[in-house]
Amino acid sequence: MNNSSDVKVVIEKLTERLGNDAVQSVVPEKYLSDRTSALKGRADCIVIPRNTAEVSFIMKTCSGHGVSVTPRASGTGVTGGAVPSGGILLSMEKFNRIIEIDADNLCAAVEPCVITLDLNKAARDKGLFYPVDPGSQDESSIGGNVAENAGGMSAVKYGTTKDYLLGAEFVTPDGTVMNAGGKFVKNASGLNILAILSGSEGTLAVITKLVMRLVPLPGARRDILMKFDSLEHAADAVKRITSAHIVPTAIEFMERSAIELVSKHSGKEVPFGGADSLLLFRIDAGSDAELDRQEKAIVAAAGADEDSFMVARSEDESALLWSVRRGVRPAIEKESPVFLAEDCAVPRSEIPRFVRAVKKIFEEKNIDSLFFGHAGDGNVHIDILKRDIPDDRWKALLKELKPLIYKEALSCGGTITGEHGIGSLRKEYLPLQFTVEEIELMRRVKRAFDPEGILNPGKIF
Ligand SMILES: Cc1cc2nc3c(=O)[nH]c(=O)nc-3n(C[C@H](O)[C@H](O)[C@H](O)COP(=O)(O)OP(=O)(O)OC[C@H]3O[C@@H](n4cnc5c(N)ncnc54)[C@H](O)[C@@H]3O)c2cc1C
Repeated sequence: MNNSSDVKVVIEKLTERLGNDAVQSVVPEKYLSDRTSALKGRADCIVIPRNTAEVSFIMKTCSGHGVSVTPRASGTGVTGGAVPSGGILLSMEKFNRIIEIDADNLCAAVEPCVITLDLNKAARDKGLFYPVDPGSQDESSIGGNVAENAGGMSAVKYGTTKDYLLGAEFVTPDGTVMNAGGKFVKNASGLNILAILSGSEGTLAVITKLVMRLVPLPGARRDILMKFDSLEHAADAVKRITSAHIVPTAIEFMERSAIELVSKHSGKEVPFGGADSLLLFRIDAGSDAELDRQEKAIVAAAGADEDSFMVARSEDESALLWSVRRGVRPAIEKESPVFLAEDCAVPRSEIPRFVRAVKKIFEEKNIDSLFFGHAGDGNVHIDILKRDIPDDRWKALLKELKPLIYKEALSCGGTITGEHGIGSLRKEYLPLQFTVEEIELMRRVKRAFDPEGILNPGKIF
């Protein structure tokens, strides 16, 4: 694949059809990495199509010459999904239109590079709401979210991207334009291609249009911050809340090291900033009375006394609390450009066991770590910063730690990644979670879409 004379011919053909504006052989640096720590790729050319017909032509041309294509949206992925390894980098950045907010059918038709938060803002103008809110929502795109099956803070109550995907137009690696689903909620026709595209990490097809489900905007919401003297106690509280069948919109957690890092890099003073661990709850409902009921139930289940929780009393207070939580990853990137970021997910009831087991591994090896994430849905983020650890020691440490963390998640009945995906970072660990036959089944699906293996090679498998 990517024989230099084939690449040259492809670039000539693409330039002739799409013009110099859309095809550039000098690829700007920013397109060669995403937000994965210490990962940089290379590409022979960047192509920026303007419409589906151009995507189809690009794929047909590349497929005819065995040249690889790596789709890219906003480049906020954290497992290297959009990082190219030669061939064509396909930037979908011009596919950035909200085509329609269809209030009658509670859905939106969008191009894939619409920014997640922009869809939410447009929906809100019509009294609707797009509930999937990854920490990167002001940068990431809906297409990137679909390709990664992104989750967010509100997954506890509202689910993840796959739960909102109603329809897609996509281009297969041989250039054929296809459709699945539409503006309808129920769909029992044939195999569920949307489910296969969801989380496919740009390895099966290039998405050119999406129909996403919207929901009515809740009438009222409230944010509650609760402090704990250990992460294990916070995890136990989450277990008691979910076991009591209380479903907040979000339950996020941060350990002190994560809070301190945000304070250091943003200068923000966090309420309860001296606590060992914090839980941040969002609840939403149709009325304040219902919010009062939910608040009481959460406080009772968590066993919190009146000094150990506070309720945000204004939009500014709410914004501060959420900016602290959303600020964790940017603060990590500033503190240490090289870091390990794991996002295992376990059944909610297993969070305390998982956290205790991983903490024990780190204590035995005397490693500083950061724990934060989406406690309400069992998605635990575990980060380790390289700081001044020498390169050789760092590499050896990752090799040793990653399988240990994954094995703990799997032994708790979980998965090695809850939302960030496999990309190029975790592919060697797939066999920890899946049997040979299960991986071969996934490979057969890949081959059915992409027999030549030209689309985003080297990812997932
Ligand atoms: C600060 C920060 C916070 C984050 N918080 C969260 C979080 O809370 N939850 C979460 O799930 N993730 C989170 N992420 C990770 C990241 O934002 C998500 O994975 C997001 O979905 C990536 O979207 P993107 O538009 O940046 O896609 P990119 O990074 O550009 O691409 C991601 C993948 O999608 C593929 N792709 C892109 N466009 C297309 C297309 N049109 N057709 C087919 N494939 C395509 C690419 O090939 C790649 O494999 C966070 C990242 C950062 C930096």
